Amino acid sequence: MHVDVLARVQEIYAEVLRRNPGEKEFHQAVREVLESLAVVLGRHSEYTEMKTIERICEPERQIIFRVPWQDDSGEVHINRGFRVEFNSALGPYKGGLRFHPSVNLGIVKFLGFEQIFKNALTGMPIGGGKGGSDFDPKGRSDAEVMRFCQSFMTELYRHLGEYTDVPAGDIGVGAREIGFLFGQYKRITNRYESGVLTGKGLGWGGALVRTEATGYGAAFFADEMMRARGESFDGRRFVISGSGNVAVYGIEKVHQLGGTVVACSDSSGYVVDEKGIDLDVLKQVKEHERGRISEYADRVGTAHFVSRGSIWDVPCEVAMPSATQNELDGEAARTLARNGCQYVVEGANMPTTPDAVALFRAAGIGFAPGKAANAGGVATSALEMQQNASRDRWSFEQSEAKLEEIMRGIHARCHETAEEYGTPGDLVLGANVAGFLQVAEAVHAHGLI
Ligand code: NDP
Repeated sequence: MHVDVLARVQEIYAEVLRRNPGEKEFHQAVREVLESLAVVLGRHSEYTEMKTIERICEPERQIIFRVPWQDDSGEVHINRGFRVEFNSALGPYKGGLRFHPSVNLGIVKFLGFEQIFKNALTGMPIGGGKGGSDFDPKGRSDAEVMRFCQSFMTELYRHLGEYTDVPAGDIGVGAREIGFLFGQYKRITNRYESGVLTGKGLGWGGALVRTEATGYGAAFFADEMMRARGESFDGRRFVISGSGNVAVYGIEKVHQLGGTVVACSDSSGYVVDEKGIDLDVLKQVKEHERGRISEYADRVGTAHFVSRGSIWDVPCEVAMPSATQNELDGEAARTLARNGCQYVVEGANMPTTPDAVALFRAAGIGFAPGKAANAGGVATSALEMQQNASRDRWSFEQSEAKLEEIMRGIHARCHETAEEYGTPGDLVLGANVAGFLQVAEAVHAHGLI
């Protein structure tokens, strides 16, 4: 590869570090993409001349706002709200809202940056954005969550619109929060604009399969990866971290496809159930009761709860990190490799640290990056927008078949791009290059804006 192309990529990265001090997750996400792009600059000098990568690394708009609200005892709280409208070359900004105490601008930017390429890979007309707040919904009453959501939307609404910016859920934002957010948007604008939020309830504009989509999609992607190596799910042991939206439906689809998930987790620890996680119990504890994962072990005789240590100590053939960023580090990767893990499929966004990714790739362990493997959620959000726009409603079977087709298509695109650029089997490069090329072409076509 040309030395000047590599030097150019390093300069771009140095400038990103300089302009965005302290935003370590954003740096990590940018670096991971840039590492794949030298090969592209070697073939497209116009992207160097027009500073296309530099423009894509700079959000189009970053919104930060105050969110005041009162708890049930009358105490006043002040949270911070964010929406980063990163790139609209392919369509309205699209990406979830995260409510978690760890949320800050750097985290929202990393998520928004990833979202640009993920959305491009789906082949749907959606740009990239992300938002959220450092509000912690855990332990809060429904009334408190509602007041927070109403205050959050009272500022955010002016930036949204079905042709402008369309948020969805993410960590801490599920159907309940989307309901409160939608209600406040409708009240302020006096418009029943279904297409302004996705992940809505099924009775008021939501789409079938949106709830299941990210987890199901990640399982379809894993299945496709194995087929490419002439293998299948049959009888294989999986470990899936987390027990939220992505993990629960990842477990459901893995079981339907013939694998067995023997462990899952939350931030308090993990449970191991050698018979395979019982989904009815898991859904009861986590979805209906909003309880802790230890309660699963209290109810299922074959399971035990581990409060210390790492879920990645549990031997498996397929690991699906589906909780949060940087949850699988180098040490965990070494343990997984030593225990015979053959595939790692990211259900969460950037859950694997760079040293762990390097280790998996060097060991020949099949590795699927989140921006490809977890794109089923946003793809189905785009299907929800499509149904809202045409005032239509598709069946579960029709929607699931579409999701499966999209996921297998994303795998094919990543796989073929990796081959075309001389790194067969490298889905990280394939996803980054394929996603980037689609966005860059549109950015270039729209002129210097
Ligand atoms: P949920 O809030 O439904 O669940 C998150 C799960 O991860 C919970 O079990 C939670 O445990 C655990 N978790 C969160 N933060 C931490 C932490 N710091 N340490 C340990 N465990 C943690 O979120 P989702 O399932 O929706 O999202 C999971 C991941 O998937 C995120 O990275 C998200 O960005 C990504 N994603 C989600 C999509 C979606 O459609 N929902 C789409 C694409 C990606 P606890 O309850 O104890 O906090």
